[in-house]
Amino acid sequence: MKHSNNAKYEKLPQLHTDKEFNGETIGSPESGTEREVGQLEMWLTTSDASTLGAEEVAARLRTDVRIGLRWREAELRRQLAGFNELTVKEEEPTWKKYIEQFKNPLIMLLLASALVSVGMKQFDDAVSITVAIIIVVTVAFVQEYRSEKSLEELTKLVPPSCHCLREGQLETFLARNLVPGDIVHINVGDRVPADIRLFEAIDLAIDESSFTGETEPAGKMTTPVLKSNGHTSKKNIGFMGTLVRCGNGKGIVVNTGEKSEFGEVFKMMQAEEAPKTPLQKSMDILGTQLSFYSFCIIGLIMILGWIQGRPILDMFTIGVSLAVAAIPEGLPIVVTVTLALGVMRMAKRNAIVKKLPTVETLGCVNVICSDKTGTITKNEMTVTVIVTSDGYLAEVSGAGYNDQGEIHIHKCDSLDKARESICNVLEVGCVCNNAVINADTLLGQPTEGALLAAGMKHGMYGVADKYVRLQEYPFSSEQKMMAVKCVPKYGDKKEEIYFVKGALEKVLQQCTKYASNGVLHPLNTKKEQDYLAEAYEIGRKGLRVVGMAQGSSLQDLAYIGLVGICDPPRPFVRESIQTLLQSGVKVKLVTGDAQETATAIASMIGLDTIHSQVLSGDQIETMTEHQLEQVVNSVSVFYRVTPRHKLCIVKALQRNGIIVGMTGDGVNDGVALKKADIGIAMGKNGTDVCKEAADMILVDDDFHTIISAIEEGKGIFYNIRNFVRFQLSTSIAALSLIALATLMGIPNPLNAMQILWINIIMDGPPAQSLGVEPVDKDVIKQKPRNVKEPMITRSLIINVLLSAFIIIAGTLWVFKREMSDNIITPRDTTMTFTCFVFFDMFNALSCRSQTKSIFTIGLLSNRMFLLAVTLSVVGQMLVIYFPPLQKVFQTEALTFKDILFLVSLTSTVFIISELKKMLERHLEKRHKSVKSDLDFV
Ligand code: ADP
Ligand code: MG
Repeated sequence: MKHSNNAKYEKLPQLHTDKEFNGETIGSPESGTEREVGQLEMWLTTSDASTLGAEEVAARLRTDVRIGLRWREAELRRQLAGFNELTVKEEEPTWKKYIEQFKNPLIMLLLASALVSVGMKQFDDAVSITVAIIIVVTVAFVQEYRSEKSLEELTKLVPPSCHCLREGQLETFLARNLVPGDIVHINVGDRVPADIRLFEAIDLAIDESSFTGETEPAGKMTTPVLKSNGHTSKKNIGFMGTLVRCGNGKGIVVNTGEKSEFGEVFKMMQAEEAPKTPLQKSMDILGTQLSFYSFCIIGLIMILGWIQGRPILDMFTIGVSLAVAAIPEGLPIVVTVTLALGVMRMAKRNAIVKKLPTVETLGCVNVICSDKTGTITKNEMTVTVIVTSDGYLAEVSGAGYNDQGEIHIHKCDSLDKARESICNVLEVGCVCNNAVINADTLLGQPTEGALLAAGMKHGMYGVADKYVRLQEYPFSSEQKMMAVKCVPKYGDKKEEIYFVKGALEKVLQQCTKYASNGVLHPLNTKKEQDYLAEAYEIGRKGLRVVGMAQGSSLQDLAYIGLVGICDPPRPFVRESIQTLLQSGVKVKLVTGDAQETATAIASMIGLDTIHSQVLSGDQIETMTEHQLEQVVNSVSVFYRVTPRHKLCIVKALQRNGIIVGMTGDGVNDGVALKKADIGIAMGKNGTDVCKEAADMILVDDDFHTIISAIEEGKGIFYNIRNFVRFQLSTSIAALSLIALATLMGIPNPLNAMQILWINIIMDGPPAQSLGVEPVDKDVIKQKPRNVKEPMITRSLIINVLLSAFIIIAGTLWVFKREMSDNIITPRDTTMTFTCFVFFDMFNALSCRSQTKSIFTIGLLSNRMFLLAVTLSVVGQMLVIYFPPLQKVFQTEALTFKDILFLVSLTSTVFIISELKKMLERHLEKRHKSVKSDLDFV
């Protein structure tokens, strides 16, 4: 086992007597403002703290390393130092951002045309254009503001927590509440919550790559260092934001928030812009392409119009308005908002997605490798059987981390002896243990909590206090063992004893003897086989087996016995797995537990353990990359694996062209999570290290949450596709309409202001509300999307062209009909304009789903959509009937009959699309039934 520099606990001098601690300076309610000013002076820089001894730092910060601060005092200090968080730097004022919107070249051109209108004394036009511009800009601004706000929210989703000593109690709370002088405990896997001066470091190594770029973790110690500048030389400081890779330690908080060294790095990170997601990129490309084509067509329209001798200013404003309308400048924003809102929705369902691209990948995942403990199972561990090395067997009842329950010893010759032996097993379990049970709640690992609870049921409280711990070899997924070196606290015998617990085969490897009724016998192969067979039987019931041993040297232990720990599967995991399997996503179980335990749990949750293989970490070890690649698909259970094997599994699957989701909780799972297409970290039991590496965090550690996330991920993708369809069809329709009119030499069916209004509907609320369409329950049943499949598929293009065609044909027809007198009146354009807008509304309605009837998904199921459409219709009515707006948009009141006529005409786009969907559904069904008939034959 690895252990280095500070193997021994540093004996801490008593820094203060309790009297001093309770004295006037610290925590006394009277400490008023004068004191507080004084306290500000007592604070240290991180560099200074590293040159001072730990006790001096504690003295300067007026704290006691054994008790910590008082809550009251901490609150006072918090008011002075502020929260331990990094605030985003002062932003530009909102009005400035609003003005920014006008810097768009197209808007400038429009403004220029308004100015020219003023120059030509066409004041009506000038006002109209200006009002229309203001509306367009405001809508764009609100959208962008919303997108920024929702992105900001995303960063607040995972608040880091810490373990801090306050008033003598170890508490867990949000790291933002830390203040200088707090005493924090850090453990392997934690993120250091503030700049701390270490006063205890056991085998402690911290990953400071975020500061130094150095990937090798830095070993830490507690002695003062000479004054220096580099981070690497401050060996006794834990820097905020760095990750504990190994061991554990304690430290005094020296600086928090922006005063910490991390503050600088954070500012640098802020300057970096987040990379765009593939979807955003492809939307950008689509946007540029559309802009290019639009410009070409608009150029053509303008040249044609000029040749035809139309008024130049008119052509110019119409051209620019068309550019504003046809160029989907809102597209990237809507994509971002939709992704961000989706991420918020996922957060409500307990899946925190850290980066937006993950949302897209979620719909493509076809294999999920899941941890067993805590994800598939509840991670509520209870010892249910104890088997001692001398053959006594006991069953343990009760559940939870408390003393409620009985230890029922099976029939045997001497109950006393049995009790004694069981006591020995539990003693190892309780001494070689870092968990604490406090008022029935567990602080620490569930496996260890289960052992403490079993001890309590046997009437053993505070067993660990009988010993002074000299050294700890922490549990790791690689070693699958934990050991402590202790000396008895009382009595004359001060011999060192090792207590060891862990996976049985690992523990037995270190054993040379076994205990039987208080006497040690040499351990032979036969006996060892017997013990392993016992463990096998217990494991077969799905119990986790932990073996216990003790002795005077780590290589010369005596085997004491084992416990079987029950950890039942979570509810609904079986159903979730069924759903996934049906949709073509495979689930693989990955665990550090033994084969029998793993397969027992696997069959409990409905994984196929008969037709597929099981593979152990050792087997993976002996295989070549190629061999693993060959078999990996057909393996459903991986057992006794270490984090390194997880990486091999991910890589092998990926070489098979599979998109892998991999869960993890431990420090060393980080690499595999990074490598996986979707790294999934456990929110509750996961270490900060693996949360850092992950793409997604399960707040409740529940496997089912992965499904919710996949469901949302798929849903979001379809929603984006839906509004892209909507925007494309409107864009094409508007452009073609004007282009056709120009080609045919008829007057423009829409004026500039009307085109701008259409733009609002296209980029604005109705389009956005398509993005928040509730996720279709059937979406989860669809096959994972092929990553290479483009967003714009052929069927999408057909749909777009079909809708666009109907809209153009209908609008042109109305225009022609109104124009029969050959004079263009406001009534004519109003009819055409309203016709187009209504077409668009019905088009939006049919875009809500590509395959399903709107009546199946519910006419009213998307509230945002209802609201947006209602607003647009009301807006349209205002534009037609409200005199001031009539002036702006050059419209005229229509009769009720007109409206009725338009509604029935424009609903065709909806009806035809619905009929098309119906036909497609029908064909699909036929296709499926033919296929299943064939399968049957
Ligand atoms: P999983 O992948 O299911 O979380 P682990 O790697 O945590 O599995 O555990 C593997 C084995 O290590 C268990 O079967 C158990 O025997 C042993 N073990 C687990 N936790 C501890 C612990 N805290 N101390 C000692 N041994 C442990
Ligand atoms: Mg575990």
